[in-house]
Amino acid sequence: MSELFSSQRIQVLLPLPLSGVLDYLVMDDLPVCEGDFVTVPLSSREVQGVVWDSDPKSNDVPREKLKYVVRKSELPSLPKSLLKFVEWVAQYTLSPLGSVLKMALSVPRGSDKPKKKTLYKLSASLPEKLTEGRRRVSDAALSDMPLSVSDWCEIAAVSEGIVRGMIKAGMMTVVEVYGEEAFISPDIDLQRASLSKEQRDAADHINLQQKSDTYKCVLLEGVTGSGKTEVYFEAVAEALKDKTAQVLVLVPEIALTAQWLDRFEERFGSVPVIWHSEMTPAQRRRAWWATIRGEARVIVGARSALFLPLVNLKLVIVDEEHSQTFKQDEGVMYNGRDMAVVRAMQSHCTIILASATPSLETMINAENEKYDWLYLGERHGPAELPDMSCVDLRQHKLKSGSWISAPLKEELKENLARGEQSLLYLNRRGYAPLTLCRSCGHRMECPHCSAWLVEHHKFKKLECHHCGFNRRLPEECPGCAAKDSMVAVGPGVERVAEELQLLFPDARLAVMSSDEISSPKALKAMVDDIENHNVDFIVGTQIVTKGYHFPMLTLVGVIDADLGMSGADPRAAERTWQQLEQVAGRAGRAEHAGRVIFQTYAPDHPVLKAIVSGDKDMFLEQEAAEREAQNLPPYGKLASLILSGPDKNNIITVSKQLARVAPHHDNITVLGPVAAPLSYLRGNHRYRFLIKANANVKLQLEIRNWLDKLPKSRGVKIQIDIDPYSFY
Ligand code: ADP
Ligand code: ZN
Repeated sequence: MSELFSSQRIQVLLPLPLSGVLDYLVMDDLPVCEGDFVTVPLSSREVQGVVWDSDPKSNDVPREKLKYVVRKSELPSLPKSLLKFVEWVAQYTLSPLGSVLKMALSVPRGSDKPKKKTLYKLSASLPEKLTEGRRRVSDAALSDMPLSVSDWCEIAAVSEGIVRGMIKAGMMTVVEVYGEEAFISPDIDLQRASLSKEQRDAADHINLQQKSDTYKCVLLEGVTGSGKTEVYFEAVAEALKDKTAQVLVLVPEIALTAQWLDRFEERFGSVPVIWHSEMTPAQRRRAWWATIRGEARVIVGARSALFLPLVNLKLVIVDEEHSQTFKQDEGVMYNGRDMAVVRAMQSHCTIILASATPSLETMINAENEKYDWLYLGERHGPAELPDMSCVDLRQHKLKSGSWISAPLKEELKENLARGEQSLLYLNRRGYAPLTLCRSCGHRMECPHCSAWLVEHHKFKKLECHHCGFNRRLPEECPGCAAKDSMVAVGPGVERVAEELQLLFPDARLAVMSSDEISSPKALKAMVDDIENHNVDFIVGTQIVTKGYHFPMLTLVGVIDADLGMSGADPRAAERTWQQLEQVAGRAGRAEHAGRVIFQTYAPDHPVLKAIVSGDKDMFLEQEAAEREAQNLPPYGKLASLILSGPDKNNIITVSKQLARVAPHHDNITVLGPVAAPLSYLRGNHRYRFLIKANANVKLQLEIRNWLDKLPKSRGVKIQIDIDPYSFY
């Protein structure tokens, strides 16, 4: 057994939903350290994992039982800062450590070493007529980026045969790539905007802070169009003076970046490294490698970019920090904005949270001086803040099947005559949110969810927005078999667009919703169309609130300003305020003054009154007082627990068991179990608990201890959501 003495025990974390590390032995002639990639045996297979502890204190498993590390990878080891971050996120969200590691490696084959490869790109001219499969390939092409055969198959969802066929037919050309193409570094001296005094002061403050090389969070609040982006570009330039520094910019949706990227390129002479979930494996691999090698200087991405192997993080920026899209609502449920603050703290660097409508959490942190607070109050140049008013729908009654009131119609008409652009905002996709039978009242519902099916004219279908189930619109009622009796109830963007087209048959219309915009390419085309003034009217969902800048857009009509004011969500009012304020910010961003009209049945609602009168402070004060009284975040802590599974009785039994052992003392309250508002989702029944606690309670510990009391139960999935943002 002499070999035992020439080997050492290490602990390896595997990217699997395991809560802990596994012990292995490694031969002394294969020195490993924390962060190294190693391949280890697990049951009968081999798995790649990461060395988590190269000199563990514990040795619970006897040495004789341990297996040997198979090999060590040539990949560069993961930076220590990332390992630390992974641990923090797992603890905070009560997720298995391995599941969080998986996010850091969530690069299908992305961490493989780049080799010499043969790639293919689409030929410049393709025949007019293409088979369905070939058409899919040509539609999926991203500019003229060359891809491997398997990547083509993946992005176009076609078989290998189709791609090979196209290569044979000369529809694709070969591109040989050696290693990975390098990213061009930003040029910080290129084009400097001359900042206004207000902007200069803000930039100076941040830059001074950056020089201290310590953690600091700065709230950069500014009305839309005040130049927040311009100011944080200065901070990026400052950070990049350090030739090895890396900057991470998080944006709520990659949709935002079409215009953002253009601006970045104008300012820095090159595009930054991009990271989001819709990238091809080849793109991910390139970005991941550039990051770990330190070649990626500025990375702009969705929340998952937090888990990139940054080697020298010096500045973090979260743009539109209030956005709910930073919260991941499945798997590891984390809030990207909050975790970005942790990442910056662990990296001892500055983080900027930018928004025109900061979240209450952030405002209160700023008020309590945990964050520095910078404010930009003026719009850049001649742009004035828009003029805002309400149309009271109790007075200006809508005709049945119509959603545009007479006063709004009048404004639209005048705007069109002036040759300016108008936007109608309604945060509802599709044609109509409900379809029912006129004779028997039967409602078209999803068979897998407790939700209505939404009619989509574009696809000639009814679709469930929760699980994607869809079916044709039936010709007769499934309830009573009456013919032609199904009617659409309520408006979606498609229906508003239809009404608009009837009112203004010659106007040019664009509908902006995730259904119309299936790819970054399609989005860019639409944004270009609007910028080039090929469009008179835009009808859009919240996708339009994401920071676009359309100079000729001077009128915004909010179809239903009451949508989203109520509900179980403690942030409902705040979110409505943010959305309406952001939409209002789209109007009159250049030389032309803007107007915003809110159609409402409740013009006296505090949210609307605050927006229309511009008295945002008052609204926020009220909102803060309300939350404090109810001990809701950010004053108290909140978590939710969702039990789900196919067998309803089983879920109820387990929920009751759990309720019996719930923690109950002065500082913590457990509400529930109750059937979730969406009580049936994708074929699973759902019950939920809500846990409210005082700020000083160690909520994670309480929940862990609580769940430990429950015997293992089959067929029930328990999801823990610390600081939940969704309440359905
Ligand atoms: P925000 O991010 O606050 O909405 P932006 O940074 O997008 O504001 O600025 C709005 C518009 O004003 C942009 O077109 C931007 O280029 C322009 N702008 C802002 N500040 C300046 C400046 N100092 N010099 C030149 N243009 C500016
Ligand atoms: Zn469904």
